[in-house]
Amino acid sequence: MNSSVGKIKERLSIVDVISSYLTVEKAGKNYKAKCPFHNEKTPSFFISSDRGTYYCFGCGAKGDIFSFVEKFEGTDFLGSLKILADRAGVPLTEYKNKEKDKTDIYYEIMEEATSFFENNFSLNKEVRSYILSRGINDNSIKSFRIGYALESWTSLFDYLTKKGFKKEDIETVGLIKKKDSRYYDRFRSRIMFPINDSTGRVIAFSGRIFQDILEVGLPDFGSPTSKISPTSKIVPAKYLNSPDTPLFNKSNVLFGLDKAKNSIRMRDYSIIVEGQVDLILSHQAGFTNTVAVSGTAFTENTTDNESKINNLGLVRRLSSNIIFAYDGDDAGIRAVNRSAMIALSLDMQVKVAIFPKGKDPADIIQEDYKKWEEIIKNKTDIISFHLDKICENTKDKESRRKQTVEKVFPFVSMIESSIKKSNYIKEISEKTSLSENAITEDYKKYEKSQNINNNFNKEKKDESKDISSRKGSLEKRLFAIIFWGGENDEEKSIINELKASFIEDIGKDQYQKILNLYEPFSENLVFEGEKWYSGKIKVLYKEMVEIILNLEEEILNEESYSVLLKIKEKERNKDDMKTDLVAYQKIVEKIEDIKNRRLK
Ligand SMILES: [Zn+2]
Repeated sequence: MNSSVGKIKERLSIVDVISSYLTVEKAGKNYKAKCPFHNEKTPSFFISSDRGTYYCFGCGAKGDIFSFVEKFEGTDFLGSLKILADRAGVPLTEYKNKEKDKTDIYYEIMEEATSFFENNFSLNKEVRSYILSRGINDNSIKSFRIGYALESWTSLFDYLTKKGFKKEDIETVGLIKKKDSRYYDRFRSRIMFPINDSTGRVIAFSGRIFQDILEVGLPDFGSPTSKISPTSKIVPAKYLNSPDTPLFNKSNVLFGLDKAKNSIRMRDYSIIVEGQVDLILSHQAGFTNTVAVSGTAFTENTTDNESKINNLGLVRRLSSNIIFAYDGDDAGIRAVNRSAMIALSLDMQVKVAIFPKGKDPADIIQEDYKKWEEIIKNKTDIISFHLDKICENTKDKESRRKQTVEKVFPFVSMIESSIKKSNYIKEISEKTSLSENAITEDYKKYEKSQNINNNFNKEKKDESKDISSRKGSLEKRLFAIIFWGGENDEEKSIINELKASFIEDIGKDQYQKILNLYEPFSENLVFEGEKWYSGKIKVLYKEMVEIILNLEEEILNEESYSVLLKIKEKERNKDDMKTDLVAYQKIVEKIEDIKNRRLK
């Protein structure tokens, strides 16, 4: 696989790859951009075309084109390999011929199953006409790869095992279930919507029941041809999703992201809807920047914040403007609220597009594309939306005030920017005709009373900040130069010479100790060294000499201090202090020497 990776790296420049995702600007020899992996206003994300790497000074994200695509697209290494190979026009031949690992087999099974369902779909007139009646057109059927799972217990199982796939593997990807040592298909008599990862590989299915038939729990394998038992009273779920598998994590997937990602980036906003059909119709209506949440992803109470962030984080990297398009009933609004709070805490601009109760986007789009356009256009800020509702529904100031605390403050408290917060306080005061002071007081009280746990988007502390003393900053600067190493012969020889004399002065052990301390930050420091000294030979020489002298002095000061402590202790214990005194004298001489060297 190495040679594919090598070829791809040869053909694609890191600047081209990253600038297809972000706006980058030149910064000296390098390029910089606003980091897609943490919130920031000024760019601290640097890209080196020479080295083919990137580094973010804000959050520490670093790597090459593959890790960038992996992180940005929320995919794995193979996913990024696929994307970049396509882009570079490098065929992944060795990859195809190599011994397949399990994950490859899982993807293959999903692909085969998708084709199988697609084929069933094309042969079943009833199913097809149902889908067409929902307003989904032929293009969408093809591009979203809509399929059909037969009303049969083992048709997919038979098909896949005949293709040579192992039962255990088919079970692992959630397509079949085992009961009394017999296998049967999980999806039966369902319209199948494939769920793709962001690179377009099928990782799961969402199956919508085709006919509201009474489905039985388990088949009677005594008669393999047994049809659905009319005596069974189990009503099947309208939608059945794949279980969590090695390829699929329910709480981590946004449907349609593979098709929407470019459009989200280009239009600079995303639309979030709830269902598969809503998603497809919104795309059909021209809103190709629409993604859908899986039924559980945003609404389940138990879903941890981490996975919600992954979910939204993926979208935020494409654009920080997000519109939740949910229906106007209470459940719809509740679902929006939870995800909107997380989006706010991620510093996204959160809008809601509310449509009439009892209707879903599919209904509206089917009636008239223009209506959908109108609803999206009339989006409102999430906080203003709640505020307006309160003002509409309350008569007296006191209940207005109470409801504001209850329903609006939770959103305001998720916002990190104090400017934005105070703008909202102003808006609340204007709309509720309560004084700004009163609102501010209430808000302060609210914040105090809440142990708001919105730390999850706080940036990771840069560990290197811990080394913040004068000595630390000198060391950091020196190792920025050493790790960078210079670009031309002249720079290189200056750095090597001075580094050698530094090692000689302080000793190899001491040098190694400091080196170990800074090694983990080398990628970051290379950029700094380059930024400060590249092409500035005189500055480099002068400053490196100065840094080394100062650093040696600091190190000696530290040493002299600890020797002095020893001497004092020995003095108290009336021990022999001779060797320590000699050592101390030597250190003092060395310090003198440095001072003289500096005078030269
Ligand atoms: Zn960052």
